[in-house]
Amino acid sequence: MSEKEDYYKVLGVSKDASKDEIKKAYRKLAIKYHPDKNPGDTAAEEQFKVATEAYEVLSDEDKRHKYDQFGHAAFGPGRGGGGGGGFGGVDLEEALRTFMGAFGGGGGGGSIFENFFGGGGGGGRESSNRGSDLRFDLEIDFEEAVFGSKRDLSYSVNIECDACDGKGAAPGSKKETCSTCKGQGQVLTSNGLFHMRQTCPNCGGAGQVISNPCSRCHGTGQAKGKRSITVRIPPGVETGSRLRVKGKGEGGLMGGPAGDLYVIMHVQPHPVFERHDLDLVVELPISIQTAVLGGEVKVPTLDGSSKIKIPSGTQNGRMLRLKNKGVKDPRGYGHGDLHIRVKVEVPTHLHGKAKKLFQQLEENLGDSQYPDQTKFARQAEEFGHRREELEKLRAEKS
Ligand SMILES: [Zn+2]
Ligand SMILES: [Zn+2]
Repeated sequence: MSEKEDYYKVLGVSKDASKDEIKKAYRKLAIKYHPDKNPGDTAAEEQFKVATEAYEVLSDEDKRHKYDQFGHAAFGPGRGGGGGGGFGGVDLEEALRTFMGAFGGGGGGGSIFENFFGGGGGGGRESSNRGSDLRFDLEIDFEEAVFGSKRDLSYSVNIECDACDGKGAAPGSKKETCSTCKGQGQVLTSNGLFHMRQTCPNCGGAGQVISNPCSRCHGTGQAKGKRSITVRIPPGVETGSRLRVKGKGEGGLMGGPAGDLYVIMHVQPHPVFERHDLDLVVELPISIQTAVLGGEVKVPTLDGSSKIKIPSGTQNGRMLRLKNKGVKDPRGYGHGDLHIRVKVEVPTHLHGKAKKLFQQLEENLGDSQYPDQTKFARQAEEFGHRREELEKLRAEKS
């Protein structure tokens, strides 16, 4: 694979281009290189695809942010290579759909592109009979998110009708070729600028019509049902991470393809580890004597535990760090860090000798051991003086 060109360069915009500028730049290129204007020109088709890929990333805030941070590596080596989230490289059909998505619903000049390809795309694969995509919100615990896991999911959904195999035609009967589109699923019209392929209004893009519908599903090809699947959760996912499971959404209508299932991760908080991207924070309670004298303390880590040195004179809230002991980057960029927030625990049930020792401490520890207290007392006193001054000033004026 050759080096991929920078997405900003592809669209000819600056790194801080607005969403609008990006859209405008893409639109210009997309129209110039659109396959309908350049039939048979593979170089133009390639340009169209590359521009679309760049637009897909830069028009999506989240993807753009990732791209700015990691470049092309953010999206893995290629399609399908990145376990669900992976992308990079689009095919022509997808490019045409993005092109439609970018301008389809838009007002103003965009409207001429409405219904450009209907739901049809190239080979009719994405017919309007395709089942809907579904969303599945999955709660996982911290450990599953960090180490990866496998989960069995089961959900109610419209699936293919048993009686007619999802085709919608009564068993034994056949579908007939649609007379409007001659089985193409699309009809061609022209607006003088481009030829437009539109979904056939008679058959909804299926290319066939049912004259004798299945009695159980009334010709829809769908029935209430259940899907049971197993999803593999890759290590490193976070709340909001999305896994796409192809063909596990709603069943298609009248023999159309099923939609996809999107599994959205919701990671439960953990009592010990607090997660910030790849970094972890642990609040570590230590005794007052360790804080004063220093010592070595055990800290839980993802791969077991580590010993950490507490320097003498450690204050409450002090941050210490264990490098590379955070979460492993799912893209293979090493590990985050483990940050340790020290929490000094004060004994609350002292008695006997321990209590006596603290009483002795009180008698023996001078103010010089507490510079913060001395400084605080001085500042508080200054505030008092200033307040009195201003009070006097106010009294004079009135
Ligand atoms: Zn049926
Ligand atoms: Zn038709």
